Amino acid sequence: MNNDRVMTRLRHLRGRLPVRVMRPFRQIRYRKTGVECTMCGARFARFNGATHPGNRTCDYCGGMERHRYLWLWLQARRELLAPGARILHFAPELPLAKQLHTLGRFRYVSVDLQPGAEIRADITRLPFRDGSFDLIICSHVMEHIDDEAAALHNLRRVLAPGGRTIVMVPVDDTRATTYEDARIVSPDDRTVAYWQHDHVRLYGRDISQRLAAGGFDVSPFRTEDLYDAAVIDRHQLSATEQIFVLSEA
Ligand SMILES: [Zn+2]
Repeated sequence: MNNDRVMTRLRHLRGRLPVRVMRPFRQIRYRKTGVECTMCGARFARFNGATHPGNRTCDYCGGMERHRYLWLWLQARRELLAPGARILHFAPELPLAKQLHTLGRFRYVSVDLQPGAEIRADITRLPFRDGSFDLIICSHVMEHIDDEAAALHNLRRVLAPGGRTIVMVPVDDTRATTYEDARIVSPDDRTVAYWQHDHVRLYGRDISQRLAAGGFDVSPFRTEDLYDAAVIDRHQLSATEQIFVLSEA
């Protein structure tokens, strides 16, 4: 059986076998090719959706550009993933949750307004005591929340002393200030104004100041400031993506 037929068979097993079992077989197929997932280590000729920046997805673990960036970033900051860390993960992205669970040493809680997370709750009314979490991951959530101030207040409230909250959102770098208009309510109008039918604002270059209003010190980490073009290309990251790290002010 040639390599392609082997891989066809193995694809049927994908998701049923642990990554460590599948990895040697994937590398038979992909060893000559050019991109590599930071999360699961898979190598491909290209990621799915390669013509749609932002959505270039790993065919093996499902990780997208922002997940690959966040995982790469976290790998260099393992102090945030110390054993016993209490982690709160909003709107949990499955690829990221799976990677965190491979480390298997946290007290992990996932939350979403929709079904699918461990706890169904509203970020503006979190059912947790003050200072409950050492690391909060809140990626692509804030742009959906009407009451930004209440969400930030809750993020600050449940963060433990010395803890960190990671926020990622779409940002329009061409805008000096965040755009929001309460009269824009229809899905079509929101798609035009805010890039997606269920977004309620489009963040601009004032994003750090807005997050700081919740009582945080905010440190932005932009992909192209941390990694050279070869790394960005190999992992197919978005060069302008930013991770905002919030700590108590
Ligand atoms: Zn992957």
